Amino acid sequence: MNIYKFGGASVKDAVSVANVCRIIKAQETTDLGIVVSAMGKTTNALEEVIALYRNDDSRYLNKIDDLLDYHLNVVRGLQEFANDQGDECGLRFRESGIINTIKGLLESLKGTLLRNQSKNYSFVYDQTVCYGELLSTKIVAAYLNACGLDVEWMDARGLIRTDHKYRDAGVDWKKSEKAITENCTGKFFLTQGFIGSDENGLTTTLGREGSDYTAGILAYCLDAEAVTIWKDVPGVLNADPREFEDTTLIESMPYSEAIELAFYGASVIHPKTLQPLQGKKIALKVRSFVNHEAQGTVIQNQDGLVPHMPCFIVRKNMIFLRIAARDFSFIGERNISDIFDELNTYKVQVGLLQNSAISFSLCLEDKYEKIDELVKALAARYQVSKIPNVSLYTVRHYNDESVQKLASPNEVILKQFTQETLQLIVKNDTA
Ligand code: ADP
Ligand code: ASP
Ligand code: MG
Repeated sequence: MNIYKFGGASVKDAVSVANVCRIIKAQETTDLGIVVSAMGKTTNALEEVIALYRNDDSRYLNKIDDLLDYHLNVVRGLQEFANDQGDECGLRFRESGIINTIKGLLESLKGTLLRNQSKNYSFVYDQTVCYGELLSTKIVAAYLNACGLDVEWMDARGLIRTDHKYRDAGVDWKKSEKAITENCTGKFFLTQGFIGSDENGLTTTLGREGSDYTAGILAYCLDAEAVTIWKDVPGVLNADPREFEDTTLIESMPYSEAIELAFYGASVIHPKTLQPLQGKKIALKVRSFVNHEAQGTVIQNQDGLVPHMPCFIVRKNMIFLRIAARDFSFIGERNISDIFDELNTYKVQVGLLQNSAISFSLCLEDKYEKIDELVKALAARYQVSKIPNVSLYTVRHYNDESVQKLASPNEVILKQFTQETLQLIVKNDTA
């Protein structure tokens, strides 16, 4: 058994979905679980729906109609491709009823929001964003089936069982393993990434970009041979090509290194994906859906990176906080414990921290828009200064040349060196 994961970029339009079908056919494997994310930027669009809905702005309904147009457009394109492959294929796609399925799903989303009484934003979020993956998987499954691949569409909410921490649900491994091994018995199945369900059967999500993690969970529970995530890049590079020039492909690396890169923010892999795979020594392959013959990167049980080189990571739009005692006394263990309690309460992610005698510095990501509340809570007991919009650069395996490469005209607020890792916080607004 192998697990393939196709992210948003790989299914963003009809041409891309047809390419996914080609990739699957080319691998000549019959024992395959396929995980698919929402098409293109659909999850962002659904986040806009929720933002409008939350403000009682009825334009959220227009946004849903835009999503209907977008998905129907993909379906129309695929209908043409199916027709091109012969009458039988074209007929099978038409008879899948996919147009009505898409319309029905988006009507059901409207109904859910109209009936909703809950003021729990995270709960409403999960009941809404899940539609991105439901729509994409229905379309991809209909097309693969029309092309003769005979895949079974499965609802991930019956497989990935979680707690009810909406927007960042924790996996119930025991229940998930039972559900997955009992239900994923078909040789060829296709399901949604990112979504699961809680003990009451209500939809939960695993956090943004969580589809990689879904693939990892399925692979773990099914004792898969490998997980392949198909991306718009040749594999894991030594830096994000959107941010750095002259990047190099890493051919292979150990799990520990991939975990470090993901932890520091290399967005090519979701940080939680590696842990289940490492436990069972299941390889994670990152391959290009553009050049699908190339081998990409393999993450497996081995020593060191091949080739060994500095790896660069940048996280933008971070927030820098410096926390000091009001009377300039030492920041001791009690204060640090108190500060961490607050970070945990507000679910704020820390990218870097450093303490001195009288202050404690943190570089944070405001994932759930909680920073203002956190600062308010801390300011009741400490002196807090905040610098918004900073970038956090991390270089793993740095050398003199890589330190030079990071030389920036902007003000460096903080530098931290450990044996393998260099981190810099840079102010952005002086550019
Ligand atoms: P998906 O379609 O699966 O959601 P993502 O867009 O989340 O894919 O991930 C692929 C993107 O990750 C690439 O387009 C690239 O810009 C970015 N990326 C960040 N760091 C790296 C890296 N070290 N190597 C390759 N890609 C990277
Ligand atoms: N669709 C979700 C997101 O955009 C999950 C994923 O793509 O992995 O965050
Ligand atoms: Mg993604």
